[in-house]
Amino acid sequence: MGNVKLEHVTKQYDDVTAVNDMNLDIRDGEFVCLVGPSGCGKSTTMETIAGLTLPTEGEVTIGGKEVTNLPPKERGIAMVFQNIALFPHMDVYDNVSFGLRLRNFEKEEIDRRVERAADILQIGDLLDRKPSELSGGQRQRVAIGRAIVRDPEAFLMDEPLANLDAKLRVHMRTELQRLHRELETTIIYVTHDQAEAMTMSDRIAVLNDGQLQQIAPPLTCYNEPANLFVAGFIGSPSMNLLEGEVTANGFTSEFVSVDFDPADFDVSVGDAVSLGVRPEDVYLADEASDVTHPTKYVDTTTDVLEPMGDEIFVYLTHGDRNTATMEEVQRKSDQLLMSVDPDKDISEEENVEVFFDRANLHLFDQQSGEAICHSLVTTATENAVDQRTPSEN
Ligand code: ADP
Repeated sequence: MGNVKLEHVTKQYDDVTAVNDMNLDIRDGEFVCLVGPSGCGKSTTMETIAGLTLPTEGEVTIGGKEVTNLPPKERGIAMVFQNIALFPHMDVYDNVSFGLRLRNFEKEEIDRRVERAADILQIGDLLDRKPSELSGGQRQRVAIGRAIVRDPEAFLMDEPLANLDAKLRVHMRTELQRLHRELETTIIYVTHDQAEAMTMSDRIAVLNDGQLQQIAPPLTCYNEPANLFVAGFIGSPSMNLLEGEVTANGFTSEFVSVDFDPADFDVSVGDAVSLGVRPEDVYLADEASDVTHPTKYVDTTTDVLEPMGDEIFVYLTHGDRNTATMEEVQRKSDQLLMSVDPDKDISEEENVEVFFDRANLHLFDQQSGEAICHSLVTTATENAVDQRTPSEN
């Protein structure tokens, strides 16, 4: 059983709290990514699980056994790091089997385990080669092979793909997913790359400042971010966040207002809130008829366009480009990013009308950062739409 549990784990280094009261309950066989910006405590969390660092407070349990103060080798885990340390004078077979030989495993058992790992990783024809005769991706596979033969309760991987080039990294992502499917073993994986976390994990644990912000399946983190930090961190490009306040009629900022009844969303008039909208949930006027709950934004002007091939990112600014000063145009807080189809006829410095879909608007409390809601559609709005539809048809 490879379930891994952290209960109230804190790691204090002098005046730095690297990990702050962390609770994680990772199920047997789960692939969980610890993700967050540099310095948020990912590696320290991993090190407390591995036993490379002892927590200042709290308990670590692996496979139902409390291991908080046990050395790494008694924890039933195997680690793969960013810097692959293979022995240069040994061939792949010896590198993969090194740990088993050290533990005096029978030759037959070693052969069996190496063969199985080589099969899974497709490195069977490389067993006689020295590390210097391997590509970066092959070396990384050998490092993973060395972890697999140990038959661990859980794999701990700390940025294992960070040193590979972009194309190989994407390829290795799919290999790791395949590996996970085959082994059915718990994998805890550290990365600062939200795309890596989104694509591979069963659940993502988002960390900031040593604290767990949210642990949930990737799409839940994307569609229902628990707070402003997760909203900004998960998804690339980031969610647009417009700062404003609650009025008797709903949300108002300098340029935007969205009507709703504050009572429906547990907010009060005067509350400082941020309205969140993903770039793909901003629509041009001619698409508004496809949106179930359109709400008009404002007239905007297109600023910079970024054609990506499969979509175009369009930066929008408010007001009239002819009268607005450059400073006004560049005020980041007022900018809005939208994603449009590549075949859209759109150019820079064009006045456009854009719409939001009320069903995909998020509200966050600015003070606590916590999410208030992930849709501004209520039963009342649904009914209003339903009633309107027949007469419009
Ligand atoms: P991440 O892996 O997310 O980049 P780390 O877990 O390495 O973050 O670090 C979290 C915080 O703890 C950082 O502020 C870092 O400087 C600090 N830290 C990590 N290890 C030590 C250490 N051995 N001594 C002092 N501070 C440390």
